[in-house]
Amino acid sequence: MEIILLGPQGSGKGTQAARLARQRGLVHLATGEILRAARRAGTELGNLAASYLDAGQLVPDAVMIDLVRQEIRSAPGGVCLDGFPRTLAQAQALDETLAELGRPLDLAVALELPEAMLLERISGRRVCTGCGAVYHIVYAPSRVPCVCDACGGRLEQRSDDQPEAVAQRLRLYREKTAPLLDYYARDRRLREVDARGDVEEVYRRIDALLPVSS
Ligand SMILES: [Zn+2]
Repeated sequence: MEIILLGPQGSGKGTQAARLARQRGLVHLATGEILRAARRAGTELGNLAASYLDAGQLVPDAVMIDLVRQEIRSAPGGVCLDGFPRTLAQAQALDETLAELGRPLDLAVALELPEAMLLERISGRRVCTGCGAVYHIVYAPSRVPCVCDACGGRLEQRSDDQPEAVAQRLRLYREKTAPLLDYYARDRRLREVDARGDVEEVYRRIDALLPVSS
């Protein structure tokens, strides 16, 4: 089974993708992790990707596509993609790769959450300046406000978690993702899932859309 999970930061996409992969015996391909692994591997392609990241640039489509293609080939039991594709060109290349392998995409699942809830989830995050532990003022508060349970360090909001920065990122995300959603909706491969509620609830909604596991 080949699945794509789409969703903005704060939608719980990474958590759901990891869970789906575990339950269905798929390899969870998260873009960030693919890039880190490529750098560690020190292959030609990995070094090329790292050179863009080190320069603070986006990894070009062609490089990203090659990296993902390698990962898909080495996961014959199926993949759950998280963070790829991001562009129409990547989506088309993904379809070509899967067609070559005779493993067409089953579904693209888009997690949907109202803007206000995304803002609350992200802007409530606090990070320990000492050990990097992550808290949330509502969902995972520290025992003492602003103080890390683990090391006693001071908790701060990262500048890119501030509401204006988050709102800007969400706008960009919607702009970039709209063509992808259209692409998958056109041939009925897109399913939209309400991402409100706890992890278990949302997982059940996703699971109900997928083919029954054999
Ligand atoms: Zn700490």
